[in-house]
Amino acid sequence: MIPAQVDYVRPADIGEALRILQDREGEAKVLAGGYSLIPLLKLRLAQPGILVDIAKLGMDGVSEDDDWLRIGARTTHRAFHEHPIVVDHYPMLRSVAGGIGDPQVRNWGTIGGSVAHADPSADWPAVLIALGATLVLRSADGERTVPARDFFLDSFETAIEPTEILTEVRLQRPSHGSGGAYQKLERRAGDFSTVGVAAAVQLAGDGTISKSGVAATAVAPSPFAATHAERVLDGQQPSEELYRRAGEGAAAQSDPATDAHGPAEYKRAMVVEMTIRALRSAVERAQQS
Ligand code: FAD
Repeated sequence: MIPAQVDYVRPADIGEALRILQDREGEAKVLAGGYSLIPLLKLRLAQPGILVDIAKLGMDGVSEDDDWLRIGARTTHRAFHEHPIVVDHYPMLRSVAGGIGDPQVRNWGTIGGSVAHADPSADWPAVLIALGATLVLRSADGERTVPARDFFLDSFETAIEPTEILTEVRLQRPSHGSGGAYQKLERRAGDFSTVGVAAAVQLAGDGTISKSGVAATAVAPSPFAATHAERVLDGQQPSEELYRRAGEGAAAQSDPATDAHGPAEYKRAMVVEMTIRALRSAVERAQQS
């Protein structure tokens, strides 16, 4: 199908973009790589009055300061995957970016677009929840930050207001004794997750898990923090038995649908397994960090 007629602007700076979003509130839509939005326009599932293309606004860098890893919202999956900081220091995040779609999707699709679109099977949202990321939003009125845990409200629904642009994803720089991993079960390489689980741990000096983050995708209307699993883990010595109990906690919190990817019961069993694998790998990385 051909998209309905729509105005198109490519503002030169973020101030202009935000003004347009405000002036045409409710009918304006941000356009980044277009890999999620254009198909919706073609199917006429979205019919905005104006597309605000953010291609000229920058926001496509990756940098570190003392506290944060900062990812510009327009950073493509590929640029992130190949960035020297990521190659050298962020194995978990690198594998997430490298596992998304195919080369075309990774070349055009942005991390901000994935986060803002909030597909219930997307990979980044669960990863950002588990790692305790912060999302930075700008409007004509100023800037605000939202923790990833509070950001994903429902399927394709986030805390972004129609007048806001997501500018940056911030992640606390990993400290000694921390590690994370993402396990994605997919039918074929490049598919969306059938089940995805992200885990992050901070180990204390005696090897116990002092703080954990666990989140799942594709097994509920939106990605969620597996708080049952986190309660099982915190304060405990890592072990296979502990990982299993955490996985059972995550599965109990999930609400998967029976669909072409498999029955709900199978997906719940896979949540247990993916949680075990993610935790095993996260703890190994933490022990080696
Ligand atoms: P767009 O399509 O331009 O925008 C998407 C939505 O986000 C729109 O509503 C837009 O208004 C909004 N938006 C974009 N940027 C901003 C911003 N900065 N501020 C506010 N709102 C914004 N994803 C996975 O997680 N795993 C996969 O395995 C995977 N496989 C895929 C395979 C295929 C064939 C395709 C087409 C997609 C796949 N995806 C997968 C999804 C892909 O990651 C997203 O389509 C892409 O990252 C979206 O980014 P974009 O820049 O193209 O966003």
